[in-house]
Amino acid sequence: MSASGPAGERAVARPAGSRTGANGTVGVAVLGSTGSIGTSALKVLARHKQRFRVVALTAFGQRERLEAQAAAFRPAFVGLVNGDASDGWRAGRACLVEAVTREDVDVVLNGIVGAAGLEATLAALAAGKRVALANKETLVMAGELVTRTAREKGGEIVPVDSEHSAILQCITGRRPAGLSRVILTASGGPFHAWPAERVRHATVAEALNHPTWRMGRKITVDSATLANKALEVIEAHFLFDLPYDRIEAVVHPQSVIHSFVEFVDGSVLAQLGFPNMELPILYALTHPERVADDGVARFDPVAAGSLTFEPVRTDVFPALALGMQAGRAGGSAPAAFNAANETAVAAFLAGRAPFGRIAEVIARVLEEQMVTDASSVEAVLEADAWARRRAAELLECS
Ligand code: NAD
Ligand code: MG
Repeated sequence: MSASGPAGERAVARPAGSRTGANGTVGVAVLGSTGSIGTSALKVLARHKQRFRVVALTAFGQRERLEAQAAAFRPAFVGLVNGDASDGWRAGRACLVEAVTREDVDVVLNGIVGAAGLEATLAALAAGKRVALANKETLVMAGELVTRTAREKGGEIVPVDSEHSAILQCITGRRPAGLSRVILTASGGPFHAWPAERVRHATVAEALNHPTWRMGRKITVDSATLANKALEVIEAHFLFDLPYDRIEAVVHPQSVIHSFVEFVDGSVLAQLGFPNMELPILYALTHPERVADDGVARFDPVAAGSLTFEPVRTDVFPALALGMQAGRAGGSAPAAFNAANETAVAAFLAGRAPFGRIAEVIARVLEEQMVTDASSVEAVLEADAWARRRAAELLECS
């Protein structure tokens, strides 16, 4: 079911049970606590205080929101990356690694957006922690390195992403050899039924108007281009040790089925629920156990209504095929894909590039890249930096 290394040890979702801290509760560090995933995680943690204690909180900015969270949870450690050290808080990028490597941290919930989360993911895994990973960019840009670090150092990666949580929930307790194929569901974003020409010139407000999920701005744009599904295909490849020809995507506009898993005998399991990240966040913290929780609306098939499926319109949303192509190329290609996407999305959100330009820039960067080995941090960061520079140049001349 999961990435097994030469030693036969899993990097992904080892049976837990050993994550309880000294005083009987599990110490949690929430990175990106002021974001969409971070605030959902704190809602979950507030409902489960007997089991978890919040030990560390970090954010990039949003000092006031972080102050309110620190007052509510009284963590031992607070880090504000883009701030100055005051009130006992830590500042600067180094605070992320400091937070995740603390003795009293058992589980790291990484809710940082983008490549900025890589160092903390690696440091947490190297320190033998469980990483409840929402920050999928980490696994895309450095999948080989991240899974190897987990295997070699006793760390564990448990996905928060709803599709990957669904897969993990379907395969837990079953033999890896029985897994045949996974089908990731995609809402299709706000433009799934729009004509191609209208999609090319979609505005920022239109792209941010996601039909089923309320999320941060970057992932919301990724959902509109379907680059998010490409990131998730690569994420699934590394998490579940599956070749790309056994990972598919289907558009499911209602976002009720979070993914399908097919077994070798042809049987298919799926995990369902109304779209809400609190459930996969809780599962990532407790896997393989389930903990009673009354915080999320119970499923009602009648209220869910008709569930429909459509093929991805690959001609209108080329980012999915581009990402899969980068995944298959392997090495540094996924890092280049991710970096080009982050750069182009930032330009789109800043009003400096039309929506259709995002996929064009990714395509050009992938065409021009030299695919190298990506088994060291240096190699990954070099590919990331090159792709960002090249994407920025291409965006300047558009
Ligand atoms: P967001 O923009 O709402 O929040 C991002 C958080 O990261 C904020 O707390 C911000 O302060 C912090 N951050 C940003 N840049 C940083 C930096 N350079 N250093 C340190 N911290 C930094 O984003 P989000 O929607 O919560 O998404 C977070 C991650 O979770 C992304 O990788 C996204 O793809 C993934 N994810 C999100 C959802 C969702 O429902 N929001 C679902 C699945 C996966
Ligand atoms: Mg997802």
